[in-house]
Amino acid sequence: MTSPNTSTCFFAQAMESFERAATLMQLHPRVRLELQEPDCEHAFYLTVDMEDRLLPLGDAEARAYAALPVSSFPAFKNVECLGDASLVLPPQALRQANVHMKDGHLRLEDGKVYRWQPGAPRRFRAWRVQHNQARGPYKGGLRFHPEANLDVFKALAAEMTWKTAIADVPFGGGKGGVEVDPNMLSRKELEALAMRYVYVAKSFLGPEFDIPAPDVGTDASIMAVMLRQYSDGEPFRHLQRGFITGKDTRIGGSEGRTQATGLGVVYCIEDFYAEKSDSIQGKRFIVQGFGNVGTYAAECLHKLGGRLLAVGDVGGYIFHPEGIDVPRLLEFMRNHPKGRMATVVDFTQARPISKEDFWKVEADILVTAALGGEITKEVAQALKVKLVAEGANGSSTPEGDSVLFGRGIELIPDIVANAGGVITSYYEWVQNRNMEFWTEEEVCRRLEKTLKRNYRIVRDIARNTPQKGEIHDSRKLCVGQSTDMRCAAMVLALRRIEAHYLLEGFSQ
Ligand code: NAD
Repeated sequence: MTSPNTSTCFFAQAMESFERAATLMQLHPRVRLELQEPDCEHAFYLTVDMEDRLLPLGDAEARAYAALPVSSFPAFKNVECLGDASLVLPPQALRQANVHMKDGHLRLEDGKVYRWQPGAPRRFRAWRVQHNQARGPYKGGLRFHPEANLDVFKALAAEMTWKTAIADVPFGGGKGGVEVDPNMLSRKELEALAMRYVYVAKSFLGPEFDIPAPDVGTDASIMAVMLRQYSDGEPFRHLQRGFITGKDTRIGGSEGRTQATGLGVVYCIEDFYAEKSDSIQGKRFIVQGFGNVGTYAAECLHKLGGRLLAVGDVGGYIFHPEGIDVPRLLEFMRNHPKGRMATVVDFTQARPISKEDFWKVEADILVTAALGGEITKEVAQALKVKLVAEGANGSSTPEGDSVLFGRGIELIPDIVANAGGVITSYYEWVQNRNMEFWTEEEVCRRLEKTLKRNYRIVRDIARNTPQKGEIHDSRKLCVGQSTDMRCAAMVLALRRIEAHYLLEGFSQ
Protein backbone atom coordinates (compact mmCIF):
# COMPACT_ATOMS: atom_id res chain seq x y z
CA MET A 1 0.00 0.00 0.00
CA THR A 2 2.47 2.60 -1.12
CA SER A 3 1.47 5.69 -2.98
CA PRO A 4 3.68 7.61 -5.42
CA ASN A 5 5.85 10.41 -4.10
CA THR A 6 3.69 13.54 -4.02
CA SER A 7 5.98 15.84 -2.04
CA THR A 8 4.89 19.39 -2.52
CA CYS A 9 5.09 22.44 -0.36
CA PHE A 10 4.82 21.47 3.35
CA PHE A 11 7.27 18.63 3.18
CA ALA A 12 9.80 20.58 1.13
CA GLN A 13 9.57 23.49 3.61
CA ALA A 14 9.85 21.16 6.58
CA MET A 15 13.03 19.68 5.14
CA GLU A 16 14.74 23.05 4.78
CA SER A 17 16.37 23.03 8.22
CA PHE A 18 17.22 19.34 7.78
CA GLU A 19 19.21 20.17 4.63
CA ARG A 20 20.91 23.13 6.31
CA ALA A 21 21.97 21.09 9.34
CA ALA A 22 22.96 18.07 7.23
CA THR A 23 25.33 20.26 5.20
CA LEU A 24 26.74 22.01 8.26
CA MET A 25 27.55 18.80 10.12
CA GLN A 26 28.49 16.85 6.96
CA LEU A 27 25.92 14.17 7.64
CA HIS A 28 26.90 10.78 6.24
CA PRO A 29 25.62 10.79 2.61
CA ARG A 30 23.74 7.51 2.91
CA VAL A 31 22.08 8.61 6.15
CA ARG A 32 21.08 11.82 4.40
CA LEU A 33 19.42 9.85 1.63
CA GLU A 34 17.72 7.54 4.15
CA LEU A 35 16.20 10.55 5.93
CA GLN A 36 15.25 12.65 2.91
CA GLU A 37 12.17 10.52 2.24
CA PRO A 38 10.00 8.45 4.59
CA ASP A 39 10.55 4.71 5.03
CA CYS A 40 6.96 4.06 4.06
CA GLU A 41 3.84 5.95 2.93
CA HIS A 42 0.65 4.00 3.52
CA ALA A 43 -2.41 5.38 1.71
CA PHE A 44 -5.73 3.60 2.13
CA TYR A 45 -9.49 4.03 2.16
CA LEU A 46 -11.92 3.62 5.04
CA THR A 47 -15.62 2.99 4.56
CA VAL A 48 -18.06 3.74 7.35
CA ASP A 49 -21.87 3.61 7.61
CA MET A 50 -23.33 7.08 8.12
CA GLU A 51 -26.40 7.52 10.30
CA ASP A 52 -29.67 9.12 9.16
CA ARG A 53 -29.61 12.92 9.30
CA LEU A 54 -32.16 15.73 9.33
CA LEU A 55 -30.87 18.61 7.20
CA PRO A 56 -32.44 22.02 7.92
CA LEU A 57 -33.96 23.83 4.93
CA GLY A 58 -33.41 27.53 4.24
CA ASP A 59 -36.42 29.87 4.64
CA ALA A 60 -37.14 30.02 0.89
CA GLU A 61 -37.09 26.23 0.47
CA ALA A 62 -39.12 25.70 3.65
CA ARG A 63 -42.03 27.79 2.30
CA ALA A 64 -43.09 24.89 0.06
CA TYR A 65 -43.82 22.92 3.27
CA ALA A 66 -45.69 25.65 5.19
CA ALA A 67 -48.67 23.33 5.77
CA LEU A 68 -46.61 20.48 7.27
CA PRO A 69 -47.74 19.72 10.83
CA VAL A 70 -45.15 19.23 13.55
CA SER A 71 -43.74 15.71 13.94
CA SER A 72 -42.96 14.57 17.44
CA PHE A 73 -40.14 12.24 18.52
CA PRO A 74 -40.56 11.65 22.28
CA ALA A 75 -37.52 9.31 22.27
CA PHE A 76 -35.35 11.86 20.38
CA LYS A 77 -33.25 13.01 23.35
CA ASN A 78 -29.72 14.44 23.60
CA VAL A 79 -29.86 15.36 19.93
CA GLU A 80 -26.46 15.57 18.25
CA CYS A 81 -26.21 18.74 16.19
CA LEU A 82 -23.39 18.72 13.63
CA GLY A 83 -21.25 21.52 12.20
CA ASP A 84 -23.71 22.20 9.33
CA ALA A 85 -26.67 22.40 11.79
CA SER A 86 -27.97 18.99 10.69
CA LEU A 87 -29.32 16.63 13.34
CA VAL A 88 -28.30 13.00 13.70
CA LEU A 89 -31.37 10.76 13.82
CA PRO A 90 -30.63 7.51 15.65
CA PRO A 91 -33.03 4.58 14.99
CA GLN A 92 -34.30 4.68 18.60
CA ALA A 93 -35.68 8.19 17.92
CA LEU A 94 -38.44 6.52 15.88
CA ARG A 95 -39.80 4.75 18.93
CA GLN A 96 -43.26 6.20 19.72
CA ALA A 97 -42.66 8.83 17.00
CA ASN A 98 -45.57 10.63 15.38
CA VAL A 99 -44.23 11.58 11.96
CA HIS A 100 -45.80 13.70 9.21
CA MET A 101 -43.74 13.64 6.03
CA LYS A 102 -44.00 15.24 2.60
CA ASP A 103 -41.45 14.30 -0.09
CA GLY A 104 -39.03 13.22 2.62
CA HIS A 105 -39.45 16.45 4.61
CA LEU A 106 -40.78 16.99 8.11
CA ARG A 107 -41.18 19.77 10.67
CA LEU A 108 -39.76 19.50 14.18
CA GLU A 109 -40.93 21.17 17.37
CA ASP A 110 -38.40 24.00 16.83
CA GLY A 111 -40.66 25.01 13.89
CA LYS A 112 -37.98 24.32 11.26
CA VAL A 113 -38.45 22.10 8.23
CA TYR A 114 -35.85 19.36 7.70
CA ARG A 115 -35.02 17.01 4.86
CA TRP A 116 -34.55 13.42 6.00
CA GLN A 117 -31.32 12.07 4.57
CA PRO A 118 -31.11 8.30 4.98
CA GLY A 119 -27.79 6.95 6.21
CA ALA A 120 -25.46 5.40 3.64
CA PRO A 121 -21.90 4.11 3.55
CA ARG A 122 -19.21 6.74 2.94
CA ARG A 123 -15.58 6.42 1.91
CA PHE A 124 -12.71 8.41 3.44
CA ARG A 125 -9.06 8.76 2.42
CA ALA A 126 -6.53 7.86 5.11
CA TRP A 127 -2.75 7.75 5.50
CA ARG A 128 0.01 6.63 7.81
CA VAL A 129 3.50 7.87 7.03
CA GLN A 130 6.40 6.09 8.73
CA HIS A 131 9.36 8.36 8.35
CA ASN A 132 12.20 6.64 10.20
CA GLN A 133 12.69 3.93 12.81
CA ALA A 134 16.48 3.93 13.30
CA ARG A 135 16.05 4.87 16.99
CA GLY A 136 12.91 2.89 17.80
CA PRO A 137 9.26 2.32 16.86
CA TYR A 138 7.58 4.94 14.69
CA LYS A 139 5.75 7.43 16.92
CA GLY A 140 3.30 10.17 16.04
CA GLY A 141 -0.25 11.43 16.19
CA LEU A 142 -3.38 10.75 14.19
CA ARG A 143 -5.05 13.81 12.70
CA PHE A 144 -8.69 13.95 11.58
CA HIS A 145 -8.92 17.09 9.47
CA PRO A 146 -10.59 18.14 6.18
CA GLU A 147 -7.26 19.34 4.78
CA ALA A 148 -5.29 16.25 5.76
CA ASN A 149 -3.13 14.95 2.92
CA LEU A 150 0.00 12.95 2.26
CA ASP A 151 2.23 16.02 1.93
CA VAL A 152 1.25 17.29 5.39
CA PHE A 153 1.73 13.87 6.99
CA LYS A 154 5.16 13.46 5.40
CA ALA A 155 6.23 16.78 6.91
CA LEU A 156 4.77 15.95 10.33
CA ALA A 157 6.22 12.43 10.37
CA ALA A 158 9.71 13.78 9.63
CA GLU A 159 9.24 16.37 12.37
CA MET A 160 8.50 13.53 14.81
CA THR A 161 11.75 11.79 13.84
CA TRP A 162 13.69 14.95 14.77
CA LYS A 163 11.64 15.60 17.89
CA THR A 164 11.98 12.11 19.36
CA ALA A 165 15.73 12.21 18.69
CA ILE A 166 16.16 15.62 20.35
CA ALA A 167 14.02 14.48 23.27
CA ASP A 168 16.27 11.39 23.37
CA VAL A 169 13.39 8.95 23.63
CA PRO A 170 13.85 5.62 21.80
CA PHE A 171 11.30 6.27 19.07
CA GLY A 172 11.31 7.16 15.40
CA GLY A 173 8.82 9.39 13.59
CA GLY A 174 5.40 8.74 12.09
CA LYS A 175 2.14 10.58 11.52
CA GLY A 176 -1.18 9.84 9.89
CA GLY A 177 -4.87 10.42 9.87
CA VAL A 178 -8.00 10.83 7.83
CA GLU A 179 -9.34 13.47 5.45
CA VAL A 180 -12.51 14.30 7.37
CA ASP A 181 -14.15 17.15 9.25
CA PRO A 182 -14.89 15.57 12.64
CA ASN A 183 -17.50 18.26 13.34
CA MET A 184 -19.60 16.77 10.55
CA LEU A 185 -19.71 13.26 12.00
CA SER A 186 -21.78 11.89 14.86
CA ARG A 187 -19.98 10.42 17.85
CA LYS A 188 -20.89 6.93 16.66
CA GLU A 189 -19.59 7.61 13.14
CA LEU A 190 -16.36 9.10 14.49
CA GLU A 191 -15.73 6.07 16.66
CA ALA A 192 -16.54 3.75 13.75
CA LEU A 193 -14.06 5.66 11.56
CA ALA A 194 -11.35 5.48 14.25
CA MET A 195 -11.89 1.75 14.72
CA ARG A 196 -11.94 1.14 10.97
CA TYR A 197 -8.59 2.96 10.72
CA VAL A 198 -7.08 0.51 13.21
CA TYR A 199 -8.75 -2.47 11.50
CA VAL A 200 -7.18 -1.56 8.15
CA ALA A 201 -3.82 -0.38 9.50
CA LYS A 202 -3.35 -3.04 12.20
CA SER A 203 -0.72 -4.94 10.24
CA PHE A 204 1.62 -1.94 10.24
CA LEU A 205 0.85 -0.54 13.70
CA GLY A 206 1.70 -1.93 17.13
CA PRO A 207 3.34 -1.18 20.49
CA GLU A 208 6.72 -2.34 19.21
CA PHE A 209 6.38 -0.99 15.69
CA ASP A 210 4.27 2.16 15.25
CA ILE A 211 2.56 3.92 18.14
CA PRO A 212 -0.14 6.53 17.41
CA ALA A 213 -1.34 9.34 19.70
CA PRO A 214 -3.93 12.15 19.56
CA ASP A 215 -3.45 15.10 17.23
CA VAL A 216 -5.80 17.72 15.75
CA GLY A 217 -9.36 16.32 15.63
CA THR A 218 -8.68 13.28 17.84
CA ASP A 219 -8.51 12.95 21.62
CA ALA A 220 -8.23 10.53 24.54
CA SER A 221 -11.69 9.11 23.91
CA ILE A 222 -10.76 8.24 20.31
CA MET A 223 -7.53 6.65 21.57
CA ALA A 224 -9.67 4.50 23.90
CA VAL A 225 -11.80 2.98 21.13
CA MET A 226 -8.75 2.50 18.93
CA LEU A 227 -7.07 0.59 21.75
CA ARG A 228 -10.13 -1.63 22.07
CA GLN A 229 -10.17 -2.32 18.32
CA TYR A 230 -6.45 -3.15 18.38
CA SER A 231 -6.36 -5.34 21.47
CA ASP A 232 -9.72 -7.15 21.44
CA GLY A 233 -9.16 -10.82 20.72
CA GLU A 234 -5.42 -10.61 21.33
CA PRO A 235 -4.21 -13.35 23.71
CA PHE A 236 -2.36 -10.91 26.01
CA ARG A 237 -4.67 -7.96 25.73
CA HIS A 238 -3.29 -6.13 28.76
CA LEU A 239 0.19 -6.12 27.18
CA GLN A 240 -1.12 -4.16 24.20
CA ARG A 241 -1.92 -0.96 26.14
CA GLY A 242 1.21 0.71 24.82
CA PHE A 243 -0.18 0.44 21.28
CA ILE A 244 -1.43 4.00 21.63
CA THR A 245 -0.58 6.92 23.94
CA GLY A 246 -2.55 9.96 25.08
CA LYS A 247 -5.07 7.69 26.82
CA ASP A 248 -7.22 8.59 29.79
CA THR A 249 -5.33 7.92 33.04
CA ARG A 250 -8.05 5.43 34.04
CA ILE A 251 -7.09 3.12 31.16
CA GLY A 252 -3.32 3.42 31.21
CA GLY A 253 -2.67 7.06 30.32
CA SER A 254 0.12 8.85 32.18
CA GLU A 255 -0.37 11.38 34.92
CA GLY A 256 0.97 14.76 33.81
CA ARG A 257 0.37 14.24 30.06
CA THR A 258 -2.28 16.99 29.75
CA GLN A 259 -0.05 19.71 31.11
CA ALA A 260 3.27 18.27 29.82
CA THR A 261 3.71 20.40 26.71
CA GLY A 262 2.95 23.74 28.37
CA LEU A 263 5.03 22.78 31.37
CA GLY A 264 7.92 21.71 29.13
CA VAL A 265 7.95 25.13 27.45
CA VAL A 266 8.27 26.71 30.89
CA TYR A 267 11.10 24.36 31.98
CA CYS A 268 13.09 25.57 28.97
CA ILE A 269 12.34 29.23 29.75
CA GLU A 270 13.34 28.64 33.37
CA ASP A 271 16.66 27.21 32.20
CA PHE A 272 17.18 30.12 29.79
CA TYR A 273 17.14 32.49 32.78
CA ALA A 274 18.93 30.13 35.19
CA GLU A 275 21.96 30.18 32.89
CA LYS A 276 22.09 33.95 33.35
CA SER A 277 21.68 33.52 37.13
CA ASP A 278 18.23 35.02 36.70
CA SER A 279 14.69 33.70 37.08
CA ILE A 280 11.14 34.07 35.72
CA GLN A 281 10.22 36.16 38.78
CA GLY A 282 9.07 39.59 37.58
CA LYS A 283 9.38 38.80 33.85
CA ARG A 284 6.65 40.13 31.56
CA PHE A 285 5.25 37.64 29.06
CA ILE A 286 2.72 37.46 26.26
CA VAL A 287 1.01 34.32 24.93
CA GLN A 288 -0.52 33.66 21.52
CA GLY A 289 -3.02 30.77 21.74
CA PHE A 290 -4.86 29.88 24.93
CA GLY A 291 -5.73 26.21 24.50
CA ASN A 292 -3.97 23.25 26.09
CA VAL A 293 -0.38 24.50 25.65
CA GLY A 294 -1.06 28.21 26.17
CA THR A 295 -3.12 27.86 29.35
CA TYR A 296 -0.68 25.53 31.14
CA ALA A 297 2.34 27.60 30.07
CA ALA A 298 0.66 30.82 31.29
CA GLU A 299 -0.45 29.24 34.55
CA CYS A 300 3.02 27.92 35.27
CA LEU A 301 4.82 31.15 34.30
CA HIS A 302 2.41 33.05 36.55
CA LYS A 303 3.12 30.69 39.46
CA LEU A 304 6.83 31.32 39.00
CA GLY A 305 6.27 35.08 39.34
CA GLY A 306 5.85 36.06 35.69
CA ARG A 307 3.37 38.78 34.64
CA LEU A 308 1.03 38.13 31.69
CA LEU A 309 0.64 41.41 29.79
CA ALA A 310 -1.26 40.21 26.72
CA VAL A 311 -2.87 37.05 25.40
CA GLY A 312 -4.82 36.12 22.31
CA ASP A 313 -6.75 33.30 20.72
CA VAL A 314 -8.84 32.75 17.60
CA GLY A 315 -11.42 35.27 18.94
CA GLY A 316 -8.96 38.15 19.45
CA TYR A 317 -6.40 39.63 21.84
CA ILE A 318 -6.43 41.37 25.26
CA PHE A 319 -3.92 43.52 27.15
CA HIS A 320 -3.40 44.86 30.67
CA PRO A 321 -0.35 47.06 31.41
CA GLU A 322 -0.21 45.90 35.06
CA GLY A 323 -0.68 42.22 34.21
CA ILE A 324 -3.72 40.03 33.55
CA ASP A 325 -5.03 38.05 36.52
CA VAL A 326 -4.15 34.55 35.21
CA PRO A 327 -6.12 32.45 37.75
CA ARG A 328 -9.23 34.55 37.04
CA LEU A 329 -8.77 34.31 33.30
CA LEU A 330 -8.38 30.52 33.57
CA GLU A 331 -11.50 30.30 35.72
CA PHE A 332 -13.38 32.45 33.21
CA MET A 333 -12.30 30.26 30.29
CA ARG A 334 -13.15 27.02 32.09
CA ASN A 335 -16.63 28.24 33.09
CA HIS A 336 -17.60 29.87 29.79
CA PRO A 337 -21.29 29.67 28.77
CA LYS A 338 -22.09 26.28 27.28
CA GLY A 339 -22.70 26.09 23.55
CA ARG A 340 -20.49 29.10 22.85
CA MET A 341 -16.82 29.03 22.07
CA ALA A 342 -14.69 30.42 24.89
CA THR A 343 -12.43 33.30 23.87
CA VAL A 344 -10.18 35.54 25.95
CA VAL A 345 -11.70 38.69 24.40
CA ASP A 346 -14.83 38.17 26.51
CA PHE A 347 -12.74 38.55 29.68
CA THR A 348 -13.58 42.09 30.73
CA GLN A 349 -10.74 42.65 33.19
CA ALA A 350 -8.33 43.52 30.37
CA ARG A 351 -8.80 45.63 27.27
CA PRO A 352 -9.09 44.25 23.74
CA ILE A 353 -6.23 45.04 21.37
CA SER A 354 -5.60 44.27 17.72
CA LYS A 355 -3.34 41.45 16.60
CA GLU A 356 -0.89 44.04 15.21
CA ASP A 357 -0.69 45.72 18.63
CA PHE A 358 -0.30 42.35 20.37
CA TRP A 359 2.95 41.73 18.49
CA LYS A 360 4.21 45.18 19.55
CA VAL A 361 3.68 44.70 23.30
CA GLU A 362 6.95 45.32 25.11
CA ALA A 363 7.72 42.24 27.19
CA ASP A 364 10.48 39.77 28.06
CA ILE A 365 8.97 36.56 26.69
CA LEU A 366 6.62 35.55 23.86
CA VAL A 367 5.15 32.07 24.10
CA THR A 368 3.53 30.89 20.88
CA ALA A 369 0.78 28.32 21.40
CA ALA A 370 -1.55 28.75 18.41
CA LEU A 371 -0.72 27.95 14.79
CA GLY A 372 2.36 27.65 12.64
CA GLY A 373 3.69 30.41 10.36
CA GLU A 374 2.63 33.31 12.64
CA ILE A 375 6.05 34.93 13.07
CA THR A 376 6.59 36.23 9.58
CA LYS A 377 9.38 38.60 8.59
CA GLU A 378 7.13 41.59 9.39
CA VAL A 379 6.05 40.22 12.77
CA ALA A 380 9.67 39.41 13.69
CA GLN A 381 10.57 43.01 12.86
CA ALA A 382 7.72 44.36 15.03
CA LEU A 383 8.33 42.19 18.12
CA LYS A 384 9.50 43.90 21.32
CA VAL A 385 10.40 40.78 23.29
CA LYS A 386 13.78 39.33 24.19
CA LEU A 387 12.89 35.63 23.99
CA VAL A 388 10.53 33.62 21.78
CA ALA A 389 9.58 30.17 23.12
CA GLU A 390 7.79 28.13 20.47
CA GLY A 391 5.03 26.10 22.06
CA ALA A 392 3.29 25.88 18.68
CA ASN A 393 4.83 23.84 15.87
CA GLY A 394 6.58 25.96 13.25
CA SER A 395 5.53 29.34 14.70
CA SER A 396 8.30 31.18 12.94
CA THR A 397 8.86 31.10 9.18
CA PRO A 398 12.43 30.83 7.77
CA GLU A 399 12.28 34.61 7.01
CA GLY A 400 10.99 35.27 10.55
CA ASP A 401 13.85 33.17 11.92
CA SER A 402 16.52 35.19 10.17
CA VAL A 403 15.05 38.48 11.38
CA LEU A 404 14.89 37.16 14.96
CA PHE A 405 18.49 35.97 14.67
CA GLY A 406 19.62 39.29 13.17
CA ARG A 407 17.87 41.30 15.89
CA GLY A 408 19.39 39.16 18.65
CA ILE A 409 16.00 37.91 19.84
CA GLU A 410 16.63 34.54 21.44
CA LEU A 411 14.64 31.52 20.27
CA ILE A 412 13.77 28.23 21.92
CA PRO A 413 12.63 26.29 18.83
CA ASP A 414 9.54 24.09 18.76
CA ILE A 415 11.31 20.76 18.50
CA VAL A 416 13.05 21.52 21.79
CA ALA A 417 10.43 23.58 23.62
CA ASN A 418 7.26 21.60 22.90
CA ALA A 419 8.70 18.09 23.23
CA GLY A 420 7.09 17.66 26.67
CA GLY A 421 4.12 15.93 25.07
CA VAL A 422 6.09 13.26 23.25
CA ILE A 423 8.42 12.71 26.20
CA THR A 424 5.43 12.03 28.44
CA SER A 425 3.99 9.75 25.75
CA TYR A 426 7.19 7.75 26.06
CA TYR A 427 6.68 7.62 29.85
CA GLU A 428 3.15 6.35 29.22
CA TRP A 429 4.49 3.62 26.94
CA VAL A 430 7.13 2.60 29.50
CA GLN A 431 4.56 2.48 32.29
CA ASN A 432 2.26 0.34 30.10
CA ARG A 433 5.06 -2.08 29.27
CA ASN A 434 6.05 -2.47 32.90
CA MET A 435 2.50 -2.34 34.27
CA GLU A 436 3.52 0.64 36.43
CA PHE A 437 1.82 3.88 37.41
CA TRP A 438 4.00 6.89 38.13
CA THR A 439 2.82 9.88 40.14
CA GLU A 440 2.53 13.32 38.57
CA GLU A 441 5.55 14.43 40.64
CA GLU A 442 7.61 11.57 39.23
CA VAL A 443 6.60 12.40 35.65
CA CYS A 444 7.38 16.11 36.10
CA ARG A 445 10.72 15.42 37.75
CA ARG A 446 11.86 13.22 34.84
CA LEU A 447 10.41 15.61 32.26
CA GLU A 448 12.21 18.63 33.72
CA LYS A 449 15.57 16.91 33.73
CA THR A 450 15.20 15.54 30.19
CA LEU A 451 14.08 18.84 28.70
CA LYS A 452 16.72 20.92 30.43
CA ARG A 453 19.49 18.47 29.49
CA ASN A 454 18.58 18.53 25.81
CA TYR A 455 17.98 22.28 25.75
CA ARG A 456 21.49 22.83 27.19
CA ILE A 457 23.03 20.60 24.53
CA VAL A 458 21.23 22.51 21.76
CA ARG A 459 22.43 25.80 23.26
CA ASP A 460 26.03 24.54 23.29
CA ILE A 461 25.80 23.39 19.67
CA ALA A 462 24.40 26.80 18.66
CA ARG A 463 27.27 28.61 20.39
CA ASN A 464 29.88 25.97 19.58
CA THR A 465 30.85 25.61 23.24
CA PRO A 466 31.39 21.86 23.77
CA GLN A 467 31.34 21.05 27.49
CA LYS A 468 30.32 18.58 30.17
CA GLY A 469 27.94 20.13 32.66
CA GLU A 470 26.04 18.91 35.69
CA ILE A 471 23.29 17.20 33.66
CA HIS A 472 24.49 17.38 30.06
CA ASP A 473 27.44 16.60 27.82
CA SER A 474 27.78 18.35 24.44
CA ARG A 475 31.45 17.51 23.80
CA LYS A 476 30.87 15.13 20.89
CA LEU A 477 27.96 17.03 19.43
CA CYS A 478 29.20 20.52 18.49
CA VAL A 479 30.17 21.05 14.84
CA GLY A 480 33.12 23.46 15.07
CA GLN A 481 31.18 26.62 14.31
CA SER A 482 28.24 28.47 15.79
CA THR A 483 24.78 28.45 14.24
CA ASP A 484 21.18 29.43 15.03
CA MET A 485 19.12 27.48 17.58
CA ARG A 486 16.83 25.80 15.03
CA CYS A 487 19.76 24.47 13.04
CA ALA A 488 21.51 23.45 16.29
CA ALA A 489 18.46 21.44 17.37
CA MET A 490 18.44 19.68 14.02
CA VAL A 491 22.17 18.93 14.33
CA LEU A 492 21.47 17.23 17.68
CA ALA A 493 18.68 15.14 16.13
CA LEU A 494 20.82 14.11 13.16
CA ARG A 495 23.86 13.28 15.30
CA ARG A 496 21.74 10.94 17.43
CA ILE A 497 20.09 9.28 14.41
CA GLU A 498 23.35 9.04 12.48
CA ALA A 499 24.99 7.19 15.41
CA HIS A 500 22.60 4.28 14.88
CA TYR A 501 23.55 3.94 11.21
CA LEU A 502 27.26 4.42 11.82
CA LEU A 503 27.47 1.98 14.74
CA GLU A 504 25.01 -0.63 13.47
CA GLY A 505 25.88 -0.25 9.79
CA PHE A 506 23.37 -0.72 6.98
CA SER A 507 21.54 -4.02 6.60
CA GLN A 508 21.73 -5.36 3.05
P1 NAD B 1 -5.59 23.89 21.25
O1 NAD B 1 -6.52 23.60 20.14
O2 NAD B 1 -5.89 23.40 22.62
O3 NAD B 1 -5.38 25.49 21.36
C1 NAD B 1 -5.07 26.27 20.25
C2 NAD B 1 -5.24 27.74 20.64
O4 NAD B 1 -4.84 28.54 19.53
C3 NAD B 1 -6.68 28.12 20.96
O5 NAD B 1 -6.68 29.05 22.01
C4 NAD B 1 -7.14 28.80 19.67
O6 NAD B 1 -8.17 29.74 19.89
C5 NAD B 1 -5.87 29.48 19.25
N1 NAD B 1 -5.88 29.84 17.84
C6 NAD B 1 -6.28 29.08 16.80
N2 NAD B 1 -6.20 29.78 15.66
C7 NAD B 1 -5.71 31.00 16.00
C8 NAD B 1 -5.42 32.18 15.27
N3 NAD B 1 -5.60 32.24 13.95
N4 NAD B 1 -4.94 33.25 15.94
C9 NAD B 1 -4.77 33.21 17.29
N5 NAD B 1 -5.04 32.12 18.03
C10 NAD B 1 -5.51 31.04 17.39
O7 NAD B 1 -4.17 23.35 20.75
P2 NAD B 1 -2.91 23.00 21.62
O8 NAD B 1 -2.91 21.54 21.90
O9 NAD B 1 -2.78 23.97 22.73
O10 NAD B 1 -1.75 23.23 20.55
C11 NAD B 1 -1.26 24.53 20.27
C12 NAD B 1 -0.03 24.41 19.40
O11 NAD B 1 0.94 23.61 20.07
C13 NAD B 1 -0.26 23.74 18.05
O12 NAD B 1 0.60 24.34 17.12
C14 NAD B 1 0.17 22.30 18.30
O13 NAD B 1 0.59 21.66 17.11
C15 NAD B 1 1.34 22.53 19.23
N6 NAD B 1 1.66 21.35 20.06
C16 NAD B 1 0.77 20.88 20.96
C17 NAD B 1 1.12 19.78 21.74
C18 NAD B 1 0.18 19.24 22.78
O14 NAD B 1 0.59 18.36 23.54
N7 NAD B 1 -1.04 19.76 22.91
C19 NAD B 1 2.37 19.16 21.58
C20 NAD B 1 3.26 19.68 20.64
C21 NAD B 1 2.89 20.79 19.89
